[in-house]
Amino acid sequence: MLYRKELDELGSFSVYRGKCKAKMDQNESPYKIPEDLKEKIFQRIKNKSLNRYTKPEDFKKLKNKLAKYNNIDINKIAIGAGADTLIHTIVEAFSINQGKSLMFYPSYPIYNLFSKINGVDCLKSKLNKKDFSINKNDFENKVKKSKTIFITYPNNPTGNLYNKEYLLKIIDKYPKKLFVIDEAYFEFSEESFKDYLSKYKNIIILRTFSKFFSIPSLRLGYMMANSDVVKIIEKCQFMPYNVSIFSLCSGIVFLENVDYFKNNKDKILTEKKRVIEEVNKLKSFKLYESDTNFVFIKEKNNEKIADYLSENKIFVRDFSEKKGLNGFFRITIGDKKENNRLIKYLKKWDG
Ligand code: PMP
Repeated sequence: MLYRKELDELGSFSVYRGKCKAKMDQNESPYKIPEDLKEKIFQRIKNKSLNRYTKPEDFKKLKNKLAKYNNIDINKIAIGAGADTLIHTIVEAFSINQGKSLMFYPSYPIYNLFSKINGVDCLKSKLNKKDFSINKNDFENKVKKSKTIFITYPNNPTGNLYNKEYLLKIIDKYPKKLFVIDEAYFEFSEESFKDYLSKYKNIIILRTFSKFFSIPSLRLGYMMANSDVVKIIEKCQFMPYNVSIFSLCSGIVFLENVDYFKNNKDKILTEKKRVIEEVNKLKSFKLYESDTNFVFIKEKNNEKIADYLSENKIFVRDFSEKKGLNGFFRITIGDKKENNRLIKYLKKWDG
């Protein structure tokens, strides 16, 4: 066999394909990048020598902007082609031959996937059914058996934050274990572990430009950690060739125009409130607390609703076939029109 046999067992990523009228399945922003911002990016690109490899200075420019945005030292920042590539590199750098990964369930499945690809086992600690909080006993037993612990904060797909004080106690208790805090939805929750970076050497904070900054297509993410950790990650990513100049320039332009995205966020959060109020009136659905741009919902009769919604041109993320998640689905808050369509068809379902 030409490849490693265990790779056969890995599932492949699948989403609904084709045309829809409400795309609410991938936690994207419903708002397009305006022409003037695109123009600013193109202007920056025009001055670059595309026949040359990206220069370290171009990384430094984006890092400087990120340092300002996060009020943090530039040496504590590494840039990746999306948060996902950073997760991959973290497993390569800190887990291979070092111990198991640990993640919550349900949570972002990529931690498991990238661990397995790298030959690292990934343990799962089931969240409490009632509110998706941490099952402390189970979690601590598994932390003891792991090397790298992935904590999605707020969690995807459930949308909730965990008890920060509790997690800090665990981080403090296990200085030789690495805690990766995935803050992909930080701008929605406004909660972060960033202020603990100087106290704890064993944390990495992940961020992305795919959600609040709305450019999943350009693959841009970053991490914050102590400079020793950053240096190792950069070695493994073969910086400065890991991110395209297009993405770097876009990141710089967006950080110079944060207000546009803040305005979008306000619209999304207003719409979220409205969607929650409307769907809460229906008898068929239970909604879970959300600190993000999406909401986790249970169809109370454990019915799979995603196909019905897809037939009506609304794409949502189905979880009903995952272990212990019968009837669950996740909706991303869209624009007014998309949300109205969702509400209309949920009402129809409700009868
Ligand atoms: N972490 C979480 C929790 C996510 O939900 C996502 C995107 N779905 C990512 C990371 C990946 O981000 P990126 O697009 O930057 O790879």
